[in-house]
Amino acid sequence: MSLYIMKLDRERNEAFLYQQVYQQMKRAILERRYLPHDKLPSKRELAANLRISLNSVNAAYQQLVAEGYLYTRERQGFFVEELDSFYVQPENHDSAIPSHLLEATKDREVRKSFSHMSADIDVFPLEKWLWCEEQALRKKKELLEEYVDPQGLYSVRKTIAQFLSQSRGVRCYPEQIVLGSGTQLLTRQLTKLLPKEAIYGLEEPGYQRMYQLLKSEGRVVSALEIDQKGIRIDALETSEANVLLTTPSHQFPTGAIMPISRRIQLLNWANSAPDRYIVEDDYDSEYKYDADSIPSLQGMDGASRVIYMGTFSKSLLPGLRMSYMVLPIPLLEVYRKSLHFLMSSCSTITQLTLQAFIETGEYQKHIKKTTKLYRSRRAVLIEKLQAKFGDTISVKGEKSGLHFLVSFRVERSEAEIKRRAEERGLLLYGISRFYNQSAPPRPPTLILGFASMRTTQMDEAVELLYEAVFR
Ligand SMILES: *Cc1c(COP(=O)(O)O)cnc(C)c1O
Repeated sequence: MSLYIMKLDRERNEAFLYQQVYQQMKRAILERRYLPHDKLPSKRELAANLRISLNSVNAAYQQLVAEGYLYTRERQGFFVEELDSFYVQPENHDSAIPSHLLEATKDREVRKSFSHMSADIDVFPLEKWLWCEEQALRKKKELLEEYVDPQGLYSVRKTIAQFLSQSRGVRCYPEQIVLGSGTQLLTRQLTKLLPKEAIYGLEEPGYQRMYQLLKSEGRVVSALEIDQKGIRIDALETSEANVLLTTPSHQFPTGAIMPISRRIQLLNWANSAPDRYIVEDDYDSEYKYDADSIPSLQGMDGASRVIYMGTFSKSLLPGLRMSYMVLPIPLLEVYRKSLHFLMSSCSTITQLTLQAFIETGEYQKHIKKTTKLYRSRRAVLIEKLQAKFGDTISVKGEKSGLHFLVSFRVERSEAEIKRRAEERGLLLYGISRFYNQSAPPRPPTLILGFASMRTTQMDEAVELLYEAVFR
């Protein structure tokens, strides 16, 4: 039989010649230039023909045999396996990625950002973190050889449990903590522990990613009205919701802080029927400016109805992907029975580093330092906004957390302001994105994050915002 003509690129080294023979022979078989049971040229013949070493040809043939393209018959040589003809070969289908799926390799140019989701890496105590990481790796490196507990390392959970008890009044055993690489992932796990027919009540406006997550999980979601104290009890009671997701420490995004009266009402609601739960999303409770934070709902719950969720994304860095949930004992029972097969989603190195970071007191120091810094960033920004905008602006929800709301007395719509800001290189978010089931209110309202904005950048950012709103 005729020898299929190969074109070799001889500029490359020997190892590459073997690759080329292998690739071209494979293509010839898939394209049926060689048919099933055809005998291939002998190794010697092919080597001589291509003027390459016998070793190269041998390596290529052996790889093709290993992958099942060829078989050998003793003393007769190499033959093509029985393969069905392959209608859509990888080489044939159009491999161009549609332009709308192409990702920008260079990020859009952002001159200034009021994003509520970013942290300031220059504030992060990098040297101390690295020291903790080195200690963790040196002292506990053998832990990296294995998959660790699905809920996260026990000793790390113990450290977090102690810390939560001191700082947030959360009462739990390390056994109740599940570490995960994000609140969404943990919420997804949680939905598997709750009754299938559960109806989820979410705050409106609220955390839209949670809304979208629950929808995509096929759950029934009901958006519930809030007022200046947080979720409205009458809205909750007239809805059919039995699992409430709430942000009592600092309502997201309005910033309302839920007073104790409303908290008691919520816990009473949860206790007045079976299978009612409250998911307490305590995402940025570390930051309070005028008074101490109100202890968690979880700590007041005597009936195992509150699931506490927390994260290190806001107090440290979103890039760490370290979050956790605290399950009431009855749900822990379900977790151990039904989700025991999961692998931990958190890096062991990050877990150990975080543990050392908390145990050496660095985390608490960091919170103290950043609270002071964010308090001043917040105050300076509000001052500059008020100086520039006068009585056309009003500020809301600034008592805690890392963002506040501003609304403007103007005709221009929120979408228009956002678009005009982006044209000027100013990244910001409007409140409409957090309205999941109802129409956003007039006047135009923005959510301004200040954690990552240095005071030296504020004049320019405020100026750009002014232009977007008024010019
Ligand atoms: C940032 C944030 C979280 C935490 O998200 P992670 O995925 O854990 O980083 C949770 N809830 C709200 C409302 C947030 O803003």
